[in-house]
Amino acid sequence: LAELEGNTDMGNMMREVAAGLAHEIKNPLTTVRGFLQMAAVDGEQLPEAHYNLLVKELDRTLELVNQFRDLNRSESLTYYELRADYLVNEMVSLLTGEAKSKNVSISTDLAEVTVCWDEKKVKQILLNLMRNAFEAMPDGGDLSLKLQGSTTKGSVKIEVADNGTGMDSETLETIGRPFFTTKEGGTGLGLTLTKNLINQMNGYMEVTSRPGLGTVFTVVLPERLGG
Ligand code: ADP
Ligand code: MG
Repeated sequence: LAELEGNTDMGNMMREVAAGLAHEIKNPLTTVRGFLQMAAVDGEQLPEAHYNLLVKELDRTLELVNQFRDLNRSESLTYYELRADYLVNEMVSLLTGEAKSKNVSISTDLAEVTVCWDEKKVKQILLNLMRNAFEAMPDGGDLSLKLQGSTTKGSVKIEVADNGTGMDSETLETIGRPFFTTKEGGTGLGLTLTKNLINQMNGYMEVTSRPGLGTVFTVVLPERLGG
C-alpha cells in the first residue's frame, strides 16, 4: 500500500516540471527536425511510416504542453453542493463510447451522497484515473467505480479499480513523479496533476496494485470543501 505524497512546495515542483518540460519536448522536436531535414536534402517524399512517426511525436509534444498548462493553472477552488454519485455517473456516461470501443465494461457501486465539491476538478481527477485504467487494459477488462459516503471524519471515498496490467513495486513507487511514464506516447503528467488537485482539496490518494492482476486507486476527499 503506497500513499502518494503531494508536493507541499508547489513553486519548487513547478520549476522542476518546467525544466523537465524543456527537455521532454526537445527530444520529439529534434526527431521531427531530423526527418524533415533528411527529406529536404533528398528532395524526396518520406515513407508513410515516417510521417506517422512525426505526427505521433508532435501529438506527444502537444499533450505535454496541454497537461503542463493544466498543471500551471492554479485557479482557486470553486465549490458548491452537488451529488457525488451523479458526478461519477456523468463521467461514466462521458466515457461509455470509449469503454465500448476498448472492450471495457464499467460497473458502479455508488452511495447517494451530497457533497460540497469543485466539480471540474473532481471530474478531472476521475478522468485521469479512468483513462489510466483503460490504458492498463489494452485487451479490455473491467473498470469498477465505488463511491462511499461520509465517514465519521467527514470524508468521501472514491475507488477506481481495474483488472489490467498492474504495477511492480518499482513502478508503484515512482508514479506521480513528473514525466514518469511507462507508455509509448505517455506524458507522465497525469498523476502529477491528479495529486496536485487532490492536495489542493486537502484530500489524499492511495494505490494498491498487483502485477498481472490490476490496480485500485482510492481518492479520499473532504465531504465539504471550505469547511
Ligand atoms: P501517463 O498516463 O502519461 O503514462 P500518468 O502520470 O497518468 O502518466 O501515469 C504514470 C504511470 O503510472 C503510467 O505510465 C503507468 O506506468 C502507471 N499507471 C497509472 N495508472 C495505472 C493503472 N491503472 N494500471 C497500471 N499502471 C498504471
Ligand atoms: Mg495518464
